[in-house]
Amino acid sequence: MQKLDSKIPEGPLAEKWSRYKARLRLVSPANKKKIEIIVVGTGLAGSGAASALGELGYNVKVFCFQDSPRRAHSVAAQGGINAAKNYRNDNDSVYRLFHDMVKGGDYRARESNVYRAAEVSNDVIDHFTALGVPFARDYGGSLDTRSFGGVQVSRTFYAKGQTGQQCLYGTYSSLNRQIAKGTVKMFPRRDMLDVVIVDGKARGIITRNLLTGELERHSAHAVVLATGGYGTVFYLSTLGLGSNASAAWSAYRKGALFANPSFIQIHPTSIPVLNEYQCKLTLMSESLRNDGRVWVPKEQGDKRHPTEIPEEERDYYLERRYPAFGNLVPRDVASRAAKERCDAGYGVGDTGLSVYLDFKDAIEKQGKKAIRDKYGNLFEMYEKITGINPYNQPMRIYPAGHYTMGGLWVDYNLMTTIPGLYAIGESNFSDHGANRLGASSLMQCCGDGYFILPNTISAYLADDIRTGTIPTDNSAFEEAEKAVEDRIKRIMSVGGKETASSFHKRLGKIMWDHCGMRRDAEGLMKGVEMLKELEEEFWENICVPGSTDDLNHELEKALKVADFFEVGRLMCEDALQREESCGAHFREEHQTETGEAKRNDTDFAYVAAWEFQGAKTEPKLHKEPLRFKYVELKERSYK
Ligand SMILES: Cc1cc2nc3c(=O)[nH]c(=O)nc-3n(C[C@H](O)[C@H](O)[C@H](O)COP(=O)(O)OP(=O)(O)OC[C@H]3O[C@@H](n4cnc5c(N)ncnc54)[C@H](O)[C@@H]3O)c2cc1C
Repeated sequence: MQKLDSKIPEGPLAEKWSRYKARLRLVSPANKKKIEIIVVGTGLAGSGAASALGELGYNVKVFCFQDSPRRAHSVAAQGGINAAKNYRNDNDSVYRLFHDMVKGGDYRARESNVYRAAEVSNDVIDHFTALGVPFARDYGGSLDTRSFGGVQVSRTFYAKGQTGQQCLYGTYSSLNRQIAKGTVKMFPRRDMLDVVIVDGKARGIITRNLLTGELERHSAHAVVLATGGYGTVFYLSTLGLGSNASAAWSAYRKGALFANPSFIQIHPTSIPVLNEYQCKLTLMSESLRNDGRVWVPKEQGDKRHPTEIPEEERDYYLERRYPAFGNLVPRDVASRAAKERCDAGYGVGDTGLSVYLDFKDAIEKQGKKAIRDKYGNLFEMYEKITGINPYNQPMRIYPAGHYTMGGLWVDYNLMTTIPGLYAIGESNFSDHGANRLGASSLMQCCGDGYFILPNTISAYLADDIRTGTIPTDNSAFEEAEKAVEDRIKRIMSVGGKETASSFHKRLGKIMWDHCGMRRDAEGLMKGVEMLKELEEEFWENICVPGSTDDLNHELEKALKVADFFEVGRLMCEDALQREESCGAHFREEHQTETGEAKRNDTDFAYVAAWEFQGAKTEPKLHKEPLRFKYVELKERSYK
């Protein structure tokens, strides 16, 4: 049975990381050359880690399923990246960033890790600036910032609405430098299908070459997963279509605990579903809420064109309900408020499932050019998708699945419960508690990859300097490869009639209806039953055309959907056991009189970490108690 040890170092919060780091064991430059590290994922977390480890002199092998590392989903991040620089002199600080994150996450994150993420945030901005990332600058030439939800300072650095892309290009250039130097070897078009454990330690992975179908064995002294989030469990989400849970899930099935799986963020400002054939939703960045005002008509079912609805007949419900933060309340609060208005019959558009995000006032005050300079590409994107020009009439927006706060459980070293297996970026259960604040994911991914993992992994690898190359011709690799092969054969042999995308869509609907923005015990239990039935149907009727020894997207998808059934069930189980509302996890049974989330700190101030016990056995729940010494536990208020 697994035992949780978060390995949080002693000492005052503000000194924990520097003191701990100063005492971590090192690997000498000569010995680093003898050590191999596998990094799976080339988003900001994985590329950052790989280039930092390569620069340190380790031999790094990096994997991604795309054709190029720079197509990792991080490229889609729009709005910005947080750091506690206090360039605006608005009284920001590392402590304030830490405090905002702990409060924003509804007090369900580890204080020590959050503080460290805030602490290294400033290094991330310095590093990107040095790499040439073209962050926006103010009139005097200093880096510009803007505000994001849940905070009252301006600490978000940005490159128009393309921050992820620009940061990833910076990271990609540093990765390429290492590839050219020979410290990093890149393996694109590889799907990691299993992690290999030798004598209790993670020593490699099994991948499928997506072009040839060949199963490959890769060994290393340690394995780092930077494989992103699983928000695509809802089918319709703002994530890239390829985002998936499978790599993390294979680690879970091999013994790595999975934490808070039901903590999944629903972003309030996605372009609404426009038709039933849609397979993807497009985000309109939270940064737009700096200037855009959210409203619905005051009258139910008002079908007038938005420009015909006079000011006094509009309900700016976020400004009305949350005057202190207004349109910049955190995402969970804004999403629920939009749903509440739509459910009450005030929603707009044909389906009534959307609200307006209006720039009229901002354009009048600042001029079109200023708005275009800040959000030009987002406005263009909106117009291309909807045919509506947001300079002339408000955008329509609605909440959509976006980000997973849940993920592989890691200790202070970012190591999972499997020795030598690390998880960084969105793939770990991270620093965001029950709700992530905007622009803090890029910050965490880059902090994990560039500045935290390279230090903590050295301490682990210091014991491996005499180990030598890890062979791949042993029973552990053979068995792992055989299990992958059997699973592929099983899926190919069904010969059914329904495509993986069709199953995925049906699964996503179950998840959205039963484990989405609002949850209750009855719905969650029903969701579990429906998932079980659909999974049985999947294994009787999945259709995967083509062969296994060639490019086969249908096979890739089917393997991922098969895992999503299990992920979905664990999400429902996790949501069911957490008899409280916190952050994005809103249980109907636990709300205040005004409809806000009602936490239960006495019974639920813990991280729920699940242990796989076998395909037919219920997973075991472990609880890591959360202790708050530096932040007072309060009801979260943005009023
Ligand atoms: C539309 C959108 C906008 C966003 N905007 C912002 C923002 O402005 N600010 C912010 O802070 N956050 C933002 N986020 C969140 C942020 O972009 C992500 O949380 C972050 O980029 C995740 O980075 P990552 O490195 O952990 O993973 P990813 O960038 O998702 O990369 C995952 C990598 O893992 C690889 N991989 C996955 N599975 C496998 C497998 N089985 N085998 C091989 N390789 C695999 C992929 O190939 C990829 O390289 C946004 C998210 C979305 C969806």
